[in-house]
Amino acid sequence: MFTITTICKNVSFSSYLVLQARLKSKTHWAKLKKKTSSKYKAMNHFDDFYGSIFGDKWKPMKEALLRRNKYVAVVNNYGEPEETIEFLTNRGAHCLNKLTSVQQEFYKQYPPEKIELSKQNNGNNKLQDYREKLQTEEISNLYHQKEAPEQLDFSDVSLKYSNEQEESKLNDSKSNYESAKEQTINHDIDQSRIIDPSMGISSEALYQYIPATKLKGMDDWVPESLHYSFYSKSNDFPLVIDPETEFKMPEHLKVYTYEMDSEWKMFPEPKRCTTGVYNYYPMDCGSVLAVLALCLAPGDRLLDLCSAPGGKALVALQTLLPDIVVCNDTSISRCNRQHRIFRDYLFDFNTSNKWRERVMFTNVDGRLFTDDQGFDKVLVDVPCTTDRHSVTEDENNIFRPDRIKERLRLPELQAQLLTNALTLVRVGGAVVYSTCSLSPIQNDGVVHMALKNAFQDHSIVAAVKDLTASFAGLSSTLQLGSGDIAPQYGQLVVPTIGANFGPSYIARLVRVK
Ligand code: SAM
Repeated sequence: MFTITTICKNVSFSSYLVLQARLKSKTHWAKLKKKTSSKYKAMNHFDDFYGSIFGDKWKPMKEALLRRNKYVAVVNNYGEPEETIEFLTNRGAHCLNKLTSVQQEFYKQYPPEKIELSKQNNGNNKLQDYREKLQTEEISNLYHQKEAPEQLDFSDVSLKYSNEQEESKLNDSKSNYESAKEQTINHDIDQSRIIDPSMGISSEALYQYIPATKLKGMDDWVPESLHYSFYSKSNDFPLVIDPETEFKMPEHLKVYTYEMDSEWKMFPEPKRCTTGVYNYYPMDCGSVLAVLALCLAPGDRLLDLCSAPGGKALVALQTLLPDIVVCNDTSISRCNRQHRIFRDYLFDFNTSNKWRERVMFTNVDGRLFTDDQGFDKVLVDVPCTTDRHSVTEDENNIFRPDRIKERLRLPELQAQLLTNALTLVRVGGAVVYSTCSLSPIQNDGVVHMALKNAFQDHSIVAAVKDLTASFAGLSSTLQLGSGDIAPQYGQLVVPTIGANFGPSYIARLVRVK
């Protein structure tokens, strides 16, 4: 017979609490679980944020994000490339190089209608509105709504950023919030709850009771709106935007894709060639674009600052162009995965000296990475909100409650990584910044901040290279954000049902000073 004791032995306290919650709640527990899941939180956040920024263009992007994503096949030049190409062509896949040149020829004869690119000017205002909305919500959450209006002067607290404050660093904004918190907490002390020892309940502890003026655990509290305060378009540094002229598809990089179609086919699993390496690498086409934007040249010394698990570094090697590739990443486990991938795709990787001289691995924080030669190219594929992953997987989700601070501080980290990359590239060399997020904060916002920091802290000037014309030939394969959703500095691969790649943001910066 089951007794309370046996039940208690078998059921943990947390399961008991869950059971209680389920019994009390009128909502079905499965629905409750779904509503607290990280991917649900991520989608809520994106609905609010991207809905405000992209308007009715967000709905089809969201629909695509929730569906199966599309891949291209990068032919392994270190396997049996001719056989692989034959295999892929027989399955109806097309060569990206050919598709691109056909499309470019077509545009030469029939130039595309010139869309007047307002390039996110409109987006800037929407971002400003969105941030103000968040700040207002945060203030009303901090203050007890019923008391705040008549007893506190909101203007003192000044949580709304004036234009000047917009320029101030994270800490200024944070201290505003600190003072807001302190005012709130001081204000909220309810005198009626302080027990006077003369009332008879005398105890030393009560007598010494001091009302709290700080909430434990709020010391490192970061308001959601701070994330958005990173977006600034002030022009107090030399901002140069030139059309890209060096771009060409690397001759030896062979990428295969299925046509843009809502019923696109999947590639089968890659197979081992007779040499033991896999025949092709399946990859998001947006990731290939980040490597294309590097405009690699023969003999280049390339640094991949956030490299693991190494997909883009592998594509860079498949161009057969760079002499040296330095793969850096702070995550040891992801670096181990990168080793395994390289071993699976690069013939003789573990045994040949040739590879040891060409490919190097380091585990330095990318913000502190130093080098005294100057790299020809630097790829900065930063940690970001990984939008597709965030709305589809709970595991390792950046929207998990215990990762809030990490998520809100992403733009700060991204800008520091990009700023350091600008110091690591030689004058005349190029840095490519990429994310897999649609967020204008993590994309253009970070590029802007890094350009500004690089100039103010290191006197570095880098020109933004506009890749619009370079990537135009890809329009038969994927969808790039245009018109009012086009970023100002980079290119945005927008997920759609028929070409379900991305999201990817790619910006190319060439150091001029
Ligand atoms: N480029 C990789 C690829 O193509 O497979 C993906 C890179 S992933 C988007 C971002 C990487 O940044 C992660 O592997 C993470 O470990 C690394 N990372 C995070 N913070 C870093 C830092 N401070 N310095 C260097 N790498 C960092």
